[in-house]
Amino acid sequence: MAVYLDNNATTSIKPEVCDAMMPYLTDIWGNASSVFYSVGQKAESELQKLRESVAKNIGAKNANEIYFTASGCEADNWAIKGFAFANKRKGNHIITTKIEHHAILGACEFLEKHGFNVTYLDVDEVGYVTPEAVEAAITDNTILISVMTANNEIGTIEPIKEIAEVAKKHKITFHTDAVQAIGHIKIDVSELGVDMLSLSAHKFHGPKGVGMLYIKNGTRIDNLIHGGGQERGKRAATENLAGIAGLSKALDIAVSDIDKNIAHMKKMRDKLITGLRDRIDYIKLNGPDDERRLCNNVNFSYEFVEGEAILMRLNMKDICASSGSACASGSLDPSHVLLAIGVPHEIAHGSIRFSVSEDTTDEEIDYVLDVMPKIIDGLRAMSPMYEAFEDGKLESFTKKYMEGR
Ligand SMILES: *Cc1c(COP(=O)(O)O)cnc(C)c1O
Repeated sequence: MAVYLDNNATTSIKPEVCDAMMPYLTDIWGNASSVFYSVGQKAESELQKLRESVAKNIGAKNANEIYFTASGCEADNWAIKGFAFANKRKGNHIITTKIEHHAILGACEFLEKHGFNVTYLDVDEVGYVTPEAVEAAITDNTILISVMTANNEIGTIEPIKEIAEVAKKHKITFHTDAVQAIGHIKIDVSELGVDMLSLSAHKFHGPKGVGMLYIKNGTRIDNLIHGGGQERGKRAATENLAGIAGLSKALDIAVSDIDKNIAHMKKMRDKLITGLRDRIDYIKLNGPDDERRLCNNVNFSYEFVEGEAILMRLNMKDICASSGSACASGSLDPSHVLLAIGVPHEIAHGSIRFSVSEDTTDEEIDYVLDVMPKIIDGLRAMSPMYEAFEDGKLESFTKKYMEGR
């Protein structure tokens, strides 16, 4: 069995989630919009129950604030574009950060071609965005702020509640991409004070191809998908009832087991972080080294080696992880997130993300801690850069991080 440590990319479907989906692929196959006969009515009443359960699990006041989508990317695109186009009379300025998921960055870049101005906020050296920086970027034309709850590459947890307060004070709508947060941080939209929030089922042991956008009542937003009257006329397409049932069940489990799961993931994460630091020189942890780090994320840069080469050797040992350029595979640029936190190109290319889950075991971490030093040693032995460094002809970028600990 593979040692799967890429849970920030996707997670396995829980058997209970699969079981919860099955009835909607067999018996309850009706179209929830066909309400003039029992087969459709059944689908419609089930959909309403699922919507209510999801609303309750994220702290939404009303089930009609839950809009199901076909992915996290769709939810993000809809929040940004749908809000911008519906509110362009009020202003054309949007604030976001340099470390958002490409779904947000891509939607913002698209809007820039359509008359909107976007501020991409800098982050500090661990990826943190301060509420003060957000406030300082606000202009009379600002209509929307979007800051992710937690970063998918380096695990930084952002001060969402405080940023939501800033937005509220200035009467600006606030969206957060909480795709990486579900199951890892307690999420309550009312407590956080957000106006819109995106999530995606496959990041918390649900099925792929189903997500959700929470839209607080009173928030004006245009359609992204036009067509029929589904999702209260806001998102056309016959509802993916099985997918929605999977999302709902996965969320149920994620929410009810959260304390236990966080404790376990933190233990696995810290064992991996400490173990790698103890065993391998010239490495740098990317992202925070404190309570602001997502409970399941480990991201290091390994100097003098290439991330892709590490991944290939990990794969030979049946270990699944991802490199700092995973999101831009096919491109030679290091990840936008690593560049935004100031990781030099030279070491950003040697970055590997391990992301654990509640199913990760001590034995799996021990195995990785046994394998990784050998892989890094082996690759450095072939590296001309490492040789130059050993000959005193090259400075180390990571030395200061080692000394700083
Ligand atoms: C995975 C991810 C998405 C996209 O979700 P999909 O359902 O795969 O489209 C968006 N934002 C973040 C932070 C993610 O990690």
